[in-house]
Amino acid sequence: MTNVTVFPQLDIPETIAAGPGPGNTDARVLARFAGAGLADHMHPDVLRGMVECKEMLRDVMGTKNTYTYGVAGTGWSGLDVMFAGVMPGDKVVMFVNGTFSGIDGLTVRMKAATAEELAANSLDPQAASVTIVNVPHGQSVTGDIVEAALAEHKPKWAAMAHWETGSGRVNDIQGFSDACVKHGAMGLVDAVSSLGVGDFAIDDYPGVHGWASCPQKGICCLPLTYAPVSFTDRFIEEVRATGTRTFVHHPVLEARHWGIIDGKDVEKGTYHRTHSAYAVAAFHEALRITLQQTVAQRAKDYAFHEAALREAVQAMGCEVTSNMTSLVVLNLPGDLAGREMELVQACRAQNFGIWPTLSEPVQVRIGILNLLNQSAITDIVTRFADAIRAMGGKVDQSAVMDALDRHYGQAIAAQ
Ligand SMILES: *Cc1c(COP(=O)(O)O)cnc(C)c1O
Repeated sequence: MTNVTVFPQLDIPETIAAGPGPGNTDARVLARFAGAGLADHMHPDVLRGMVECKEMLRDVMGTKNTYTYGVAGTGWSGLDVMFAGVMPGDKVVMFVNGTFSGIDGLTVRMKAATAEELAANSLDPQAASVTIVNVPHGQSVTGDIVEAALAEHKPKWAAMAHWETGSGRVNDIQGFSDACVKHGAMGLVDAVSSLGVGDFAIDDYPGVHGWASCPQKGICCLPLTYAPVSFTDRFIEEVRATGTRTFVHHPVLEARHWGIIDGKDVEKGTYHRTHSAYAVAAFHEALRITLQQTVAQRAKDYAFHEAALREAVQAMGCEVTSNMTSLVVLNLPGDLAGREMELVQACRAQNFGIWPTLSEPVQVRIGILNLLNQSAITDIVTRFADAIRAMGGKVDQSAVMDALDRHYGQAIAAQ
């Protein structure tokens, strides 16, 4: 053979994953991933592991929904299974307040578009049956906004992100659920960045019939594993009635491998597609860690460390516009305004992996996924302050360190 290039072994450096996701995978998860034996997807221990994952996932999500399982892939994979319920011509109201709910809106328009609408603009179809309600970047979707739109449009489906990671905003899930119940809409929620970070039980929101999350944010299981999904019986009945045009991402068929057949738990799954023993072992360990630490305790830890980071960047003169607990979204101090992208690039060049916003306006996003300790937060704060100084900004280092000391000192005093 000629012209064959075998590249050198690929080495990827260790970085500080201080972005909105993916988060830092726990060493225990990586050890289970690498430690699993080579077993095929129908090996009894792999199937047992999947059934155990399903049961642990119900506890993590706070649900009795039988149709609760993982979809191989990332957040969009789980979301694709959930939005598979939406068929051409279905009436949908979608609330958008940032990058990710914006892409959810595109997904919904692709699914709900008629054949003619799809052909007219296949990459960005304008489906007449879909209403997109835009909420400005930096603001939350409120219950009043949802109530007004559902009262006006009376859709079959309503959808929004629980936590919109693009702008760092928490949306009103209670108000959303209440409005869905009142107006008979089936709610669909993108819980990609809230699951495993916030303390909530999905069964407390009866208006929501479909939930989809991801492996690599609050669940801390990037070694590409499973996107958690959960569906009520009503959702499943609806999908059975209308059908949907996908085999692999079919909400009913995809559940079979996890031991969910004809609406019931069975002892062993049956073949749907190949699953990886490595992925099952890693996902299983990630769920064990979450349940051992408890969802409630993790949520408290996120809120506590996010507050420390928030106070420290505010002491640098930054303006924080987010209210999620896994990250802060901020504007730089006035003298550096407009240079957010430059600062992010400078940090990333040093393997300090913070992020810009992905849609306008450009802001800085700093995340703390699985970085829940004082030394990790102090390291992030120190690097960020250095980056601001390197761009000519002024940081009162002692004020920043005082903010951290106050925060962590109080916590020690309170113990
Ligand atoms: C990260 C994210 C996604 C996309 O998840 P992937 O794992 O990148 O596919 C979707 N929605 C929200 C709210 C997110 O935060």
